[in-house]
Amino acid sequence: MSTPTQADVEQLQQQLNQYSYHYYVLDDPCVPDAEYDRLFRQLQVWEQQHPEWVRPDSPTQRVGEKPLGQFAQVAHSVPMLSLDNAFAAEDFTAFCKRMADRLDFAGDFAFCCEPKLDGLAVSIRYQHGLLVQAATRGDGSTGEDITSNIRTIRAIPLRLQGSDWPEVLEVRGEVFMPLAGFERMNDAARLKGDKVFANPRNAAAGSLRQLDPKVTAARPLMFYAYGLGEVQDSAGQLDAESHHQRLQQLKGWGFPVCPEIERVQGAAAVLAYYQQVAERRASLPYEIDGVVVKVDSLAQQRALGFVARAPRWAIAFKFPAQEQLTALLDVEFQV
Ligand code: NAD
Repeated sequence: MSTPTQADVEQLQQQLNQYSYHYYVLDDPCVPDAEYDRLFRQLQVWEQQHPEWVRPDSPTQRVGEKPLGQFAQVAHSVPMLSLDNAFAAEDFTAFCKRMADRLDFAGDFAFCCEPKLDGLAVSIRYQHGLLVQAATRGDGSTGEDITSNIRTIRAIPLRLQGSDWPEVLEVRGEVFMPLAGFERMNDAARLKGDKVFANPRNAAAGSLRQLDPKVTAARPLMFYAYGLGEVQDSAGQLDAESHHQRLQQLKGWGFPVCPEIERVQGAAAVLAYYQQVAERRASLPYEIDGVVVKVDSLAQQRALGFVARAPRWAIAFKFPAQEQLTALLDVEFQV
């Protein structure tokens, strides 16, 4: 539909909000992600044509959903944002151009390329090296207190290694369920005649939002760190100048970091990374739905800042739905 009415736009906003509620709050999506993404992009196009119809509760202006209230709520002092999406090489090239224009920068950006893990974003707070609180992303400003459940995940340190950490450190990353564990869990459920999970993301989200941490403890969950939230660092321990260096520092404090992460120079190298990961996607031990590309320099990140729901310095470069992937891999990218 090329010329929408205001009613069309409002209807699509409401429809997507309904889908979001099922996905984030009930952990029970009613449409495939690719369909949600298609409608979301349609809404973005319409809202660009008619900025006067953008409402503050439009899904393009917000992150996730408000928590249901079974768990205590946690306010995020540094918001947990979403990511803008690229679906084709042209979208990625446009992202690079927007950043170059904004910074008046003519060189090649260094990027940190990371698999886009299909799980659940969490924020884990350490005070004086000890894990004190963990929360889901929720609507980005308020999440759910899932401290007891996070403490059951063995990959997550309860106490940081070494002693050179900031006094307050919020580590952000993805909790996900590796495929082997997911298959094992569903096989066991089938044998008992129990309900099986639709996919590993769903299983991770359902496992983490359990009121009884013993249930979470029995689920095969894993965590990879990919960023930071609030930091109080009076001794200047956090001295990394790039995102990649920061991940190495997190590793040193005891956090697992995805081994597929690579620092690359320039847009062409990002596209090569994307293609290389897309080819290996089916053999990775966890599900991913794209790659996340972040400007590596923290100074450039700070200069670029944020828009409503996403940083300007990062993008989720999504893989097409599985059936379109084979065709895509036959095409040579041009930058
Ligand atoms: P997103 O999943 O597109 O991107 C942001 C998220 O990426 C972060 O919150 C984090 O959890 C994750 N992530 C994984 N690896 C990361 C890394 N290395 N670095 C940084 N972040 C990383 O954004 P979103 O706002 O959570 O959700 C939008 C997506 O969720 C849509 O694209 C859609 O596919 C899906 N969705 C589906 C439905 C549905 O009904 N099927 C409804 C709502 C949302």
